[in-house]
Amino acid sequence: MKNFRRITVQSFVPEELQELKEFSYNLWWSWKPNAQKLFRTLGDELWYDVEHNPLKLLKYLSQNQFNTKANDPEFLDMMKSVMDEFNHYMSRKDTWFDETYPEKEDFLVAYFSAEFGIHESVPVYSGGLGILAGDHCKSASDLGIPLVGVGMMYKQGYFNQQIDGDGNQENMYPSYDFGEIPILLIRDEKGNPRKIFINLPGRKVYAQIWRMQAGRTSIYLLDTDIQENLPEDRILTSQLYGGDHEMRITQELLLGIGGVRALRLLGYKPSVWHMNEGHSAFLVLERVRELVEEGMAFDVAKEIVSSSSIFTTHTPVSAGHDAFDEALMHKYFDHCFQNYGLDWNTFYMLGRDVNKNFSMTVLAMKMAKSCNGVSRLHGEVSRRLWSDIWKDIPVSEIPISHVTNGIHTETWVSREFRKLYNEYLGDDWIVRIDNPEMWETVNDIPAGRLWDVHKIRKQRLVDVVKQRIRNRDQRNGVPQYITDRALENLTPDALFIGFARRFATYKRATLLFRDIERLKRLVSNREKPVVFFFAGKAHPADRPGQSLIKEIYHISMSEPFLGKIFILENYNMTLARYLVSGVDIWLNNPRRPREASGTSGEKVPVNGGINFSVLDGWWVEGFNGKNGWTIGEPKEYANNDIQDSEDSANLYYTLENAIIPEYFERSNGDPYSEAWIRRMKESIRSVTPVYSTHRMVKDYMNNLYKPAFEHKQLLTVNNYKKAKELVEWKQKIVHAWKDVWVTEINPVEEFINTLHMQITCDVMLDGLNPEDVKVEVYLVREYQEDQAPVSVVELKLKKKNTEGRYVYAGTVEIPKAGTYSYNVRVRPWHKDLLHPFETGMIRWMQIVS
Ligand SMILES: *Cc1c(COP(=O)(O)O)cnc(C)c1O
Repeated sequence: MKNFRRITVQSFVPEELQELKEFSYNLWWSWKPNAQKLFRTLGDELWYDVEHNPLKLLKYLSQNQFNTKANDPEFLDMMKSVMDEFNHYMSRKDTWFDETYPEKEDFLVAYFSAEFGIHESVPVYSGGLGILAGDHCKSASDLGIPLVGVGMMYKQGYFNQQIDGDGNQENMYPSYDFGEIPILLIRDEKGNPRKIFINLPGRKVYAQIWRMQAGRTSIYLLDTDIQENLPEDRILTSQLYGGDHEMRITQELLLGIGGVRALRLLGYKPSVWHMNEGHSAFLVLERVRELVEEGMAFDVAKEIVSSSSIFTTHTPVSAGHDAFDEALMHKYFDHCFQNYGLDWNTFYMLGRDVNKNFSMTVLAMKMAKSCNGVSRLHGEVSRRLWSDIWKDIPVSEIPISHVTNGIHTETWVSREFRKLYNEYLGDDWIVRIDNPEMWETVNDIPAGRLWDVHKIRKQRLVDVVKQRIRNRDQRNGVPQYITDRALENLTPDALFIGFARRFATYKRATLLFRDIERLKRLVSNREKPVVFFFAGKAHPADRPGQSLIKEIYHISMSEPFLGKIFILENYNMTLARYLVSGVDIWLNNPRRPREASGTSGEKVPVNGGINFSVLDGWWVEGFNGKNGWTIGEPKEYANNDIQDSEDSANLYYTLENAIIPEYFERSNGDPYSEAWIRRMKESIRSVTPVYSTHRMVKDYMNNLYKPAFEHKQLLTVNNYKKAKELVEWKQKIVHAWKDVWVTEINPVEEFINTLHMQITCDVMLDGLNPEDVKVEVYLVREYQEDQAPVSVVELKLKKKNTEGRYVYAGTVEIPKAGTYSYNVRVRPWHKDLLHPFETGMIRWMQIVS
């Protein structure tokens, strides 16, 4: 091809339709059905072929089609009404935020994430973490919360997946033309791209900045593929989660440090900084550097930075957390760690983990006063997992809270269900999405209607599956008659069960196949047809994950599973939408408690589907006994094999004895099962209002962003007066703490016959004052690491003993007779602490036994 020149013939966009081009750049259209209808009406097949990318649609639409629409009054009317809706959305002043926080004028969240899944036309996400980030940004926009996102623009994105004729995953890396993606390059007045740089050893790396717009939320994406950079630096933003440790650390330096610089360059002054997972944690160092450069001491800078930082962890196992060894850290920080006002060891301690590596999670946890997991169970697991950072603090009091993940409902509800809700819940149901009372009305939807709409979505899934399986099989040279046999009996009358997610081994994609004979019987009943759909990518480096794909592929191509089990290629947002809205049952069987939250199951109920899941992640909270089914026991296993065996036995049992019979039950000649409809309604009613990002983002706002914002303001006023005081106070505490101790005067007898336990203690405070501490009795049922206490009772200061020693006393009420344990503790206390254990210090009474 070297003697050919490339040209693109573009149609001329008529004046009447010019507006559409600019409109394409705000991904608002991706969650608004009227806007999508507009594009679909422009070119129905093309819209599908360009994978719902309006820029490509406008690029490839024929002149004829353009001209027809430009002269079609009906189309122009439709366009006007979409533009009106859009303009109204963008300029509203009566959002939830406006009404709840009218006084918060300089409030702005900077939300950092390595991936953002807003829409499939901007492929900068791999899975759950990115979709969550995208959904977070959309809800922030809907609710009017001022928020900007920061991420990276990957030239090759995450990979596209094909499955070959032997079940091998093939990883395809398309090189995207950013001109065809609805993102805009940030330029200066002269039209030149604006750039930031970061220092890497011996060189500068520059990045230009793209803006992805999701309603009111701007997301800035860094891109190093520019001329100024060395070839090895140009590929820094090539792939999401590609490359080795060195690639990872440089990407994270760019995201964290470069991200802060990009926001500064664009004139943003965020008041709260949210790290979505540890990838962006270097941002805290950049923020410290800015303050130290202004002449502030590290400790004061740390106080300011940590007061306004939020860290959300997503991984319940330590191996899943990024950590770099000391040599690598030396390589990348030797030239700059002094800028933080620290010596090497103190700097390194900010992130040092139990393996002596520099952990991004440890850094984030030490430098953010607000940390959270993503479900109640994951909060507990995280407190246990990171208890080393808060030595001696009871696990239940470790300052890691939780905000359970949700989904952006408008993104994930199908068009058909949206219409149904318009009819029965009212046109404004979407703005009242997190109102549980409104969802009670679901009970008014006639069973027949609900079933019909659901069947339409099942048929859509059938169509998509047929097309995709045909494409795959043709490419792989599978004989036509085999493909035909697989697809000929695929109809919406069968019970559809979906399983789609990353093929990480802990998700146990092959649990269903543990007893293949039993599964065979299950899918061979002609009266009660059951069909399973699988989809998901395995990370290119994850061999075990890929072998699971292969195993399922082979089963799906073999008798008697042909036509009963399908594995679909290239799981992404498009396929996810068809699956979550086209199945009856969403199957999820991770190895508990490894699913931090999971969100795919949350997309299903709003579309009338039902969850069948291990009691892990969000489902621990979501399951109410009537809205779905569970798999296995909510307990912990020491042995994986036993866990798999018990869980799979339970999975088959529930399918055979509960799910399949209930689905196929028919009475009064209805074409549906009444019990099933009842469960569908319960699923919709109970899950939808709670597991939405509207509820989630409000939780972040009320419980994390707002306190952080106010705390930082408090510390900042009067030239950081309070911050400096707090730092001085903390230094005083650290200095004195080694000599603080507490002993009991006349210890309580081992056997007592009263429910009022009198306790008197002698407390040595050394140089500290009684105002600097709280002295508390900590009463537990039986001492277990993560048990919440029965009570914590503050003792009162009774008198000063000798120099530095005080007597504290009080009464502890015991709820009822039984065996208990107690201890007395001293902890630092100051009214300006954001969290009682922010200092990490505590002193327990020595119990001599
Ligand atoms: C929702 C979604 C996920 C998250 O799925 P989990 O089961 O929660 O891991 C991953 N990938 C895509 C494409 C999704 O839409």
